[in-house]
Amino acid sequence: MAALIGVLAGDGIGPEVVREAVACLEVVGQQRGEPFRFETGLIGGAAIDATGSAFPPATADLCRRADAVLLGAVGGPKWSDPEAKVRPELGLLEMRAAMGVYANLRPVATHPALYAASPLRPERLEGVDILVVRELTGGIYFGRKERTADSATDVCTYTREEIERVLRMAGTLARQRRRKVASIDKANVLDTSRLWRSLATEIFRTEFPDVALEHVLVDAAAMHLLSRPRDFDVLVTENMFGDILTDEASMLTGSLGMLPSAALGAGRRGLYEPIHGSAPDIAGLDRANPCGTILSAAMLLRHSLGLAAEAERIERAVFTAIEGGHRTADIALPGQPPCGTAALGAAIRTALAA
Ligand code: NAD
Repeated sequence: MAALIGVLAGDGIGPEVVREAVACLEVVGQQRGEPFRFETGLIGGAAIDATGSAFPPATADLCRRADAVLLGAVGGPKWSDPEAKVRPELGLLEMRAAMGVYANLRPVATHPALYAASPLRPERLEGVDILVVRELTGGIYFGRKERTADSATDVCTYTREEIERVLRMAGTLARQRRRKVASIDKANVLDTSRLWRSLATEIFRTEFPDVALEHVLVDAAAMHLLSRPRDFDVLVTENMFGDILTDEASMLTGSLGMLPSAALGAGRRGLYEPIHGSAPDIAGLDRANPCGTILSAAMLLRHSLGLAAEAERIERAVFTAIEGGHRTADIALPGQPPCGTAALGAAIRTALAA
């Protein structure tokens, strides 16, 4: 049977960018003579409005049945009341748990057509090709939380198992690349980081002796990402450090709107989404860059469906369209009028069909 792709558009610009990514997948399905099956589900604020839950049972069921899930983004001012019992972001956390995904792959590669959109000089950007592997299930985002009128606490916890499996994923992926891993921590201050560092040292010494490991403190890594980004190959880190460093790294590629991601676990099924949020400031204005979501669809083809050639065709089509001058406002060249979300999506499909 044709592969089933769960489609969760979410909130804000989510539906606009997901529409363009699904349309690209439809082109690929037609070209293969075996269209993919798509089934939509509710998540985030849209799901709260419709059902009271950010991750309703029907969506959980879809995520379990699907071969892969494509997600837009969740959240927005409408649901951001700090006193609210159910928040859209809870839907993401529940979905990741339900799908058993624990490693978030975030490729950051620069492209000459986008050098002008980055605040860094072109000579710093040339040849940058980084894969960030971010741990997704542990750390301070998931630890015990407490709040009184005068104090607040967020506990950062990691288990050996959580750390080891993501380090192994990074080592395995490094073998498909340049065999270099930078493990990012804050071992001079945090006990979770000291555990992380000792496990990284041990696992790479015993299981990945052919992969070069370096330990980098997170504050230094934030600097090196801008001063020597080309030196990094695979960068593996815990949940919050990875969240922050990838937003920073996105500026190497020109825009947050360009970056895709894949959340993977033990099997082939994965969750694919752009790294950006729901961008309420531009929602509904046909201004969102759909490339991060379309490139996430390419990752979906490669990792969950084993369609590497089709994935590459989508990736090439994205840059053919951009080189052809189809640029949303976030990556527009000075003095040139930007194009809209739908127009960039259409140009990418034209390149894909060519
Ligand atoms: P954001 O990523 O939504 O936006 C940050 C800035 O980048 C904004 O100026 C936005 O206009 C711009 N931007 C983002 N994506 C873009 C795109 N595709 N094209 C062009 N410009 C783009 O982050 P935020 O404003 O801090 O958060 C907005 C909401 O999104 C919040 O509710 C937050 O909780 C949520 N959020 C969700 C996810 C997710 O669903 N995975 C991730 C991050 C934030």
